This record gives sequence, structure tokens and C-alpha cells, in this order.
Amino acid sequence: MSNKFLDLAVPGVQGLQPYQPGKPIAELEREYGLSDIVKLASNENPLGPSPAVAAALAAGVPELARYPDANGFDLKAALAARHDVAPECITLGNGSNDILVLLAESFLAPGLEAVYSRYAFAVYPLAVQATGADHRVAEAFPAFHPDQPLGHDLAAMAALVGPRTRLVFIANPNNPTGSWVDAATLEYFLTGLPGHVIAVVDEAYFEYVREPEYPDASRWLERFPNLVVTRTFSKAYGLAGLRMGYALSDPGIADVLNRVRQPFNTSLAAQLGALAALGDQAHLAQGVTLNNRERARVSAGCTALGLEVVPSVGNFILVDMGAPAGPLFEALLRRGVIVRPVGNYGLPQHLRISIGTTAENDRLLAALAEVVGQ
Ligand SMILES: *Cc1c(COP(=O)(O)O)cnc(C)c1O
Repeated sequence: MSNKFLDLAVPGVQGLQPYQPGKPIAELEREYGLSDIVKLASNENPLGPSPAVAAALAAGVPELARYPDANGFDLKAALAARHDVAPECITLGNGSNDILVLLAESFLAPGLEAVYSRYAFAVYPLAVQATGADHRVAEAFPAFHPDQPLGHDLAAMAALVGPRTRLVFIANPNNPTGSWVDAATLEYFLTGLPGHVIAVVDEAYFEYVREPEYPDASRWLERFPNLVVTRTFSKAYGLAGLRMGYALSDPGIADVLNRVRQPFNTSLAAQLGALAALGDQAHLAQGVTLNNRERARVSAGCTALGLEVVPSVGNFILVDMGAPAGPLFEALLRRGVIVRPVGNYGLPQHLRISIGTTAENDRLLAALAEVVGQ
């Protein structure tokens, strides 16, 4: 479809491709006339949020006529206590996606550059592209790398940093690869980063990771003032539909983001729900335990089918189907199982599979057994 208005759009926007979300359950129901669908396509928490969230949202209904607190005082206070930082270090976002876009809008423009890895989270190229800045894409580790196949190669990323670089995006762990960067490697990278470059360490899956060498970069804010750590309530906290994420940074960076963001970028519901979710760490832990146990089981199930699984520390796995993934994706859809094709990442033979409940994962493994090698 030709779109004459695309010619009117600014150059950065002309080059944008829309983000490809996971297929919604209702869409598959409509298109295939199926029910009882299992969606393992968007790294959502299969247990849903803490029950405390529903109560908090209901209690907030009488307040809905009023604008939310533009400064998110209560949620920031709780997050500040949790992370042992001042509230001035926190920026709330409409999902952490909002934070990533605010960073790009604040620090990038035509003539400037952002660095990220091949196979990195798809929102980084989108956020950079919209500003008209240049992309410097570092080669990732090869598929045969012993520990981190397709993972970020921080030395290759550092080599692309130059005088015009303003942002470097590091997803730790990364989506869709599930790969991660250890503390010593990240520390070395941050130590060598020039002062005019801001390092964005995206910890969307932080709560799932149990590796002893995995760093909590939020502990390093004082050592590395040009570090921004992003977190979200969308994954382990089970609140993807509510939209709440946040950045931890030097107050100076937070001050810049605060000038760019919309005054009411996070809703009243999101602030109340996130606060309630944060207060129920037992629910969080239950979800993480389930995920990590099931991730091992689903990985083993895929391996038993002769598929190669990229080792993951998140709530999803990337699986090499050994054949073009499109027809396999379709065959799984016909069996009521939605996973995520990753051809847009340059991985046409892989599927990304989110970890569900035990029953959902059983459905997935049974469907996979039917479609693999057909
Ligand atoms: C899911 C995800 C996010 C955040 O999503 P929001 O819902 O906008 O908070 C950020 N980074 C990565 C790597 C993700 O996979």
C-alpha cells in the first residue's frame, strides 16, 4: 500500500517499520475459529499479577476523575526504598519502552549515534530510528559460542563507540536470545566508556535471573554516573497490560528525562497497581520459581525433539527449528499455540517461546512434537 503521507513524515520516521507484537489470542480465535488457545508469544507472566493488584485498582476507581500524581510520589518512594536510592534517581514510564524512547529523544538527533548489538531487543532500533540518529550495530557472539550464543559482545560494542555516540543499549538479559552479560564484563565495559556516552542497561527480566555472576547494575549508579538501569512491571510482576516501567539513574539524567516526558505519562491505575505488586514479593518469587523450573523442562523437551535451544535466563527460550520457522509457526497456530517468529531479528529459523504454566507448556510440547519433522 502506497502512503502519500509517509512522504510528509520526517526522515527518521520514514525509515520506521512498525513493531511486530505477539499475535493476540482473540485474533487467532477469529481467524481460525479456535478456542482454548495457549499464548506463549510475549513473555507475559502466566500466573498474572499479585491478587493485591486487583484490590488496589478497585480502591482507586473513585479517584479516576482526577489526574494521576504527575510525580508518582508513592510509587517512587517505594522503589527508592527498595533500591536504596533517592527518589530523584527514579523516572517512571508507560512501560520501560517509554523510558527507552525518552532516552533516545533526549540524547539522540541526526548526526549522533547509538550503539547496540545484533539480535538486541527490537525497540532499540525503533527508538533510535525515530530520532534520525545513526545506528552502529555490533556483531553478536556466533551461534557456536560456548556460553552466550548470539549474545552481546561488549568488546565489539565498545569498539563502535566514537565521539558522536550518545547512547549504548545493553539488554541484560537480552530478548529474544535470553543471553546475559556477567558482572566483570559489564563493569569493565562501563569503566572504559567515555563520559559523553550514556549506557542503558535494560534489566526487564532481572527478577528471573539466578546466575551468581549476574550483576545488579542498579548498585553501580554512584560509580558510573552515565549509567541508566531500566526495569519493568511487565514481566515477572505480571503487569504487561497496565504499562509501568522505570529508570534508575543519576538525578541529572532523571532531570533531563523529566523535561521530555509527558506530564502524565503513567496512569493512576499503573501507579496503584505497580505499588501493590511491589508489595507482594512472595507472589513474585512464586512466579520466578515456576518459570525457572519450567524453563528447564521446556528446554529439555525441545532438545529431546532434536531442536537446539539457546540457553536462557529469562522467561522465554529461543529455539533453532533447523528449518524455516514460518511454516512451523503456522502449524503451531493451527493447534492453538501462539509462539513468536523472530525473522524480523534476522533469525528466520528460530522461534521464541515464552514459558507458561505447566499445563500450557505441556500443550506446547505436545504440539511441537506433532509439527517437528513432519
Ligand atoms: C519486554 C521488554 C521490555 C519492556 O517492556 P515494557 O512492557 O515496555 O516495560 C524492555 N526490554 C526488553 C528487553 C524486553 O524484553
